[in-house]
Formats: sequence, C-alpha cells, structure tokens
Amino acid sequence: MTYQVATLRGDGIGPEIVDEAVKALRAAQEVVPGLDLEFTFLAAGADHYAAHAEVAPDSTWQALHEADAILMGSMGHPDIRMPDGTEVQGHFIVNVRKKLHLYAGVRPIKFYPGARGVNPAQKDVDLVLVRESTEGLFASFGGGAEIEDEVYSDTMIVTRRGTERVARYAFGLARARSGRPLDGARTVTCVDKANIFRSLAFFRKVFDEVAAEHGDIHSDHALVDSFSMLLMQHPERYDVLVTENMFGDILSDLAAALVGGLGLAPSGDIGDRHAMFQPAHGSAPDIAGQDRANPVATIVSARMMLDWLAQRHPDDAALPAAADLVERAVVETMEAGDRTVDLGGSLTCSGFGDAVAATVRRLGAGTAA
Ligand code: NAD
Ligand code: MN
Repeated sequence: MTYQVATLRGDGIGPEIVDEAVKALRAAQEVVPGLDLEFTFLAAGADHYAAHAEVAPDSTWQALHEADAILMGSMGHPDIRMPDGTEVQGHFIVNVRKKLHLYAGVRPIKFYPGARGVNPAQKDVDLVLVRESTEGLFASFGGGAEIEDEVYSDTMIVTRRGTERVARYAFGLARARSGRPLDGARTVTCVDKANIFRSLAFFRKVFDEVAAEHGDIHSDHALVDSFSMLLMQHPERYDVLVTENMFGDILSDLAAALVGGLGLAPSGDIGDRHAMFQPAHGSAPDIAGQDRANPVATIVSARMMLDWLAQRHPDDAALPAAADLVERAVVETMEAGDRTVDLGGSLTCSGFGDAVAATVRRLGAGTAA
C-alpha cells in the first residue's frame, strides 16, 4: 500500500532537518521490499505568512485531513508575528492538534550512543512524557479575554474526556514498554499541581479512575514543581509521565537536557485517526541556514511515524521492518562516532543524514538478502 505523507518543512532549521529525515526514509524504501511512502510537500509557517499573509493555504489544511501521516520540521520565527503579538507557528501547530484531535503528545527521552546528559552521574534515562495536547492552558488559544490593551487572559481548561483519553493512552504505552530503569516496574506518573488548582485536582482524580482500570501497572503522582528537581536528580525512577499541556511543553525540553539536548528529542502528536511527527524542539533561528542542526530528533520522529503506521496497518510487514532499520541505523551511526557539533562531533546536518542513509542501505542490504 502507498502511504501519503503530508510533509511540512517549516521555517528556520525545519527544511534542513526534514530533508535528512526524508533522506533516511527514501533509503529505507530502496532496501525494504514493499515500503511505499509518497511525500507531498506542503506550505505553512512563518515564512509563508510573511509572503502570503496566511498561516497556511486551504490546500494544506485539506491535505492534512487526507494524509495517512504527517511529518513536520519546526516552524516559527521570533520576528514574524500575528496582529495579536503571538508568533505564527502556534496558529498552525496548536490548531492542527485541535482540528485533528491529536491529544497525546508523545515525547520519548532516552540516550543515544555518544550523547551525554546534564546529570553528572549519567543515570539511566528511558522515559516517555505524554503531554495532553488539545486543552489545558492551550485550550483558550487564540481566545481568552482582551480588554483595551490593558487586560489579557488565557484560561486553563481540563475536561473529563480530554483527561481520560490521554491517561488511557499513557497506560497503554506503559503496558507496551519494559518499565522504569530503576527496577523495571511499569509505572505511569501523573505530574500535576493538584494541591492548588481545582482543574488539576480534577485531572488527578480522573487519572486515578483510569489507573484503577489498569491494576497491573503501577501509578503515582508528583507535583510539577518538586518533580522538576526529582526528574533531574533521579530520572531512573520514571517510565511514562502524563501531564497537562503547558507543563508537558516545558518538562519535555527540560527532560531533553538529561540525554544530550533538544537535537535528540523526538515527538509524535497522536490521535485516534491522525498523527503528526516532528522534533520536540523549535526552528532554532540561531543556527538556521548553517547546516549544523542535529537531525536525530526528526529522523527518530520519522521512525515513530513508521511505528504508528505499522500499528494501524498490521498486515504491512514493510512498516515495522523499516522502523527497525531506521532506528538501528541512527544507533549504529552514532556508535561509529559520527555526530553533529551540538554533541561535540564534527559532522554537518546533511553529512550526518548521509551517514544515516548509508547505514540504512548497508543494514537493509544485509537483511533483504
Ligand atoms: P528552539 O528549540 O528552536 O531552540 C532552543 C535551543 O536549542 C537553541 O539554542 C537551538 O539552537 C538549540 N536547538 C534546537 N534544536 C536543535 C537541533 N536540532 N540541533 C541543534 N541545536 C538545536 O527554541 P527557541 O529558540 O525557544 O524557539 C525558536 C523558534 O522556534 C521560535 O520561533 C519558536 O516559536 C519556535 N518553536 C517552534 C516549535 C515547533 O515548530 N513545534 C516548537 C518550539 C518553538
Ligand atoms: Mn515546546
């Protein structure tokens, strides 16, 4: 089967990193029999807004609805803003998540070879942060109160349905994983501020109800403020985390520091019918156009896309084979010492992407024979 991949290169380093992910997927197509991905490149983002006074053309929104999966780079430029003062990228990404019901922001954090994290003990890290992605503090995005250049508000919204579905997703994920590094216990930790905010006390209450449906998986809670410290000191205690939208946005960038930075932080925005895969980081204007971004987060996000397609199309053996190949190629490339400059290496973004694509072809040639 042919899968339509709606592809958004975006702004800043977005085009550079997406091109390397597409390169890896095309290399996989060469060596995995039956893997058939068709990339359609779509316009959206800050540069598009500057040129056309729209966040994205109607044709892009239409294509996103029709695609089998969405692959994205990163968007936004600090100097290109909407009339309300906000940046363009949120008006695309936040709305894609809402329109396509992409409620689970899945952000895996783990070590890749040769990367060092901020924790001096380099404790084992293998966790997934699940960020509720359709409500919370982002629910009133584009709305809220606005009074004559004097008063602005954004309101935290937590619903039962929104909390149940993201909590269920988190427990399902924990069941498929092998537990926290500390002792292998499958654990879902609800990260909230239930001691102060009634919306988040409700989030915790609904989480506990969902936890009760999953008696085989350990569940616990943490308050987001002290949790931020514990995460840095004892990352080995955590397996799957589930949290409100804004907390998840902040904590996932923080967690990336445990394993070597944002260039290694992939993500999937996942719903029941649609999903979008993009690195957890932004468009990095400070290094854009210099061919020095780390494309690992985007390549691994593309691998997550293959995994998600594989779950939806269990009869297509090419998808899991390609996912496995891309993941192994990233690991082996980094094991061989090939790294971008953010990790102390010397490769360019495209040079690293070439190395991954070559490894995909080499490993794939071995398995196809
Ligand atoms: P950022 O994630 O773009 O960059 C933070 C720091 O990490 C920068 O020093 C950057 O150089 C570095 N970095 C990020 N990705 C890297 C990579 N792949 N390789 C090497 N280094 C990398 O965050 P920011 O600077 O706060 O935001 C910049 C722009 O990105 C803003 O316009 C913001 O709105 C936008 N943004 C977009 C998204 C998205 O597209 N989903 C997410 C967050 C921020
Ligand atoms: Mn973010």
